[in-house]
Amino acid sequence: MSGFVFSQKPISIESGEGSTLLADDGTEYIDAGASYACTPTGHCHPEVVSAVREQVGDLIYVQGSYPVAARTELKAKLSALAPGGIENVWLCNSGTEANEAALKFARSATGNAKIVAAKRGFHGRTMGTLSATWKPKYKKPFEPMIEDHVEFVTYGDSDELADVVDEETAALILEPVQGEGGIHPAPEGYLETAREVTEEAGAALIFDEIQTGVGRTGDLWACEGYGVTPDILTSAKGIASGLPLGATLVADWIAEDAGPHGSTFSGNPVVTAAANATLEVVVDEDLPGQAADVGAHLCEELEGIEGPIREVRGSGLMIGIEVKRGANRVLRDLALEHQVLALPAGRTVVRLLPPLVLTESEADRIVAALGEILAPQSKP
Ligand SMILES: *Cc1c(COP(=O)(O)O)cnc(C)c1O
Repeated sequence: MSGFVFSQKPISIESGEGSTLLADDGTEYIDAGASYACTPTGHCHPEVVSAVREQVGDLIYVQGSYPVAARTELKAKLSALAPGGIENVWLCNSGTEANEAALKFARSATGNAKIVAAKRGFHGRTMGTLSATWKPKYKKPFEPMIEDHVEFVTYGDSDELADVVDEETAALILEPVQGEGGIHPAPEGYLETAREVTEEAGAALIFDEIQTGVGRTGDLWACEGYGVTPDILTSAKGIASGLPLGATLVADWIAEDAGPHGSTFSGNPVVTAAANATLEVVVDEDLPGQAADVGAHLCEELEGIEGPIREVRGSGLMIGIEVKRGANRVLRDLALEHQVLALPAGRTVVRLLPPLVLTESEADRIVAALGEILAPQSKP
């Protein structure tokens, strides 16, 4: 485990197009994980490529206090696309930074220290967001955590939320569908309760949509599918088709009192140009709609597989297949024998987060591969 950070997979990827990756030995793979949801528009979408090429030739960087068209455009786009009323946009370079900003803004605006987060939740790996992340494996080697004001609640338990979120609370941070924790969609009524209790306590409700956002769950933002608007929404991963960008969307009452914050690379022109093109493609090609359709088809077909599957969970193209034995063998066989690259989510969940341009026939190939691997007679 000590070499984990530096470990490499035995497949060398050379190029990509749509949902396909090409290795340097000529093998083609279906990308069923989009390298953790980072390429919603597919690999090297022509519009993203040309936006980046154009911007990189004009201007690579200028400090954030000078307006640059690409950055200004992205802020306007995100304001327009944000769920109701959270129109203030902070840009940064990763998911963890988007969440760090969210937690800082919530503290500044409420004057409170306490953060409530969910068990199984994942919010990043810098010291602040790591403190609000549940899994001991990610935290143990780095303890003590800086944060001693985080309280964890059981995800999905509305009564506990009402008990723990109180007048001392700065923020409640939740993923609308828990990703890293094994693909667990919020149960009916849970996010509504989260909205009610935070409003009552005067705390900020933060939705971490770093994995669920940008169309993945079948809506542009997962919270729209639940009909609940947070005070802060964070996005990253797929928002710039794989270039590093994070965004924190903030309601007025928090933005007004957000406190000092900054980052040298905030809203880098090249990266924001990629994000503008990404959002245009996502909206124009109705990729949330495609995620909903292909995701529903994929789930239905997966449920028909005969084999050691405990449960298929998910929303749109964010799908977890909980298997009875370890997921690692399945992932290895998928990659090496069937040329399908998928992801784990914990020990027993095979996670699918393909590009949102995945076609139904590509989805069928993933199902066929899983069906073969999980077929009862192939078990040792
Ligand atoms: C990946 C992820 C993060 C962290 O994003 P980084 O860009 O790796 O810092 C935070 N929250 C969720 C829900 C994620 O999936």
